[in-house]
Amino acid sequence: MLKQKKQGSLIIISGTTCAGKGTVIEELMKRNDNLSLSVSYTSRGMRKGEKNGIDYYFVSKQEFEEKIEHDEFLEYAMVHQSNYYGTPKKEVKELLESGKDVLLEIEVQGAQQIKEKFPETILIFIMAPSMEDVKKRIVSRGQETKEQIIKRFQTAYQEINEIPKYNYVVVNDEVHAAVSKIEAILVSEKCRVDRIEEIAVENQEEFIHEFLMDQDFDNSNPFEID
Ligand code: 5GP
Repeated sequence: MLKQKKQGSLIIISGTTCAGKGTVIEELMKRNDNLSLSVSYTSRGMRKGEKNGIDYYFVSKQEFEEKIEHDEFLEYAMVHQSNYYGTPKKEVKELLESGKDVLLEIEVQGAQQIKEKFPETILIFIMAPSMEDVKKRIVSRGQETKEQIIKRFQTAYQEINEIPKYNYVVVNDEVHAAVSKIEAILVSEKCRVDRIEEIAVENQEEFIHEFLMDQDFDNSNPFEID
């Protein structure tokens, strides 16, 4: 009776630095087969443990700028005042058309660019329970220089001011609880009326008439009132 749109949903997850976004997304992906995580391009260097084509496609600044010129990105941004990050247009378009829901793990500027182009995008912001938690997580990660840490804090404070531009905010105080909240958001989004392509309902008079006949009522016209 209801025909839903075949096209998958585009979902953006952003969050402050060290909000535990990575862990939440990993768990979300494990639990949901129809979700695809888009792999971004970046001009930043590869960190220990990262893999090309899995965490990011790592390219030089020049290669990234060539891709900008060839209009290969759905969005892109300069992040932490130093490196480019961008979402590949072709891959995301193909996945959505095949009916997959596509998850973009991107920051606020990119999220805004996508929202302007595709207003039906679902924008979710993940927050750490407090800035004290962020501080602890940055220190325990111990992979960055003092300057990088300062830039991350500055970006985190700026990003918090952008939360009103998102549709949903999820506090990550416990990973499984945060994932369940995101799943609930995705389920309710699928039930939105604007995701319905067509409502096909049988002819009312014929349907009721046939029903009454089946039930062994007399077969006079049910729409005639004495
Ligand atoms: P990191 O260097 O820690 O992996 O990522 C830094 C920031 O870049 C994160 O906030 C992440 O969400 C964002 N990011 C990753 N990929 C993209 C992308 O394709 N576009 C945009 N705009 N931001 C991205």
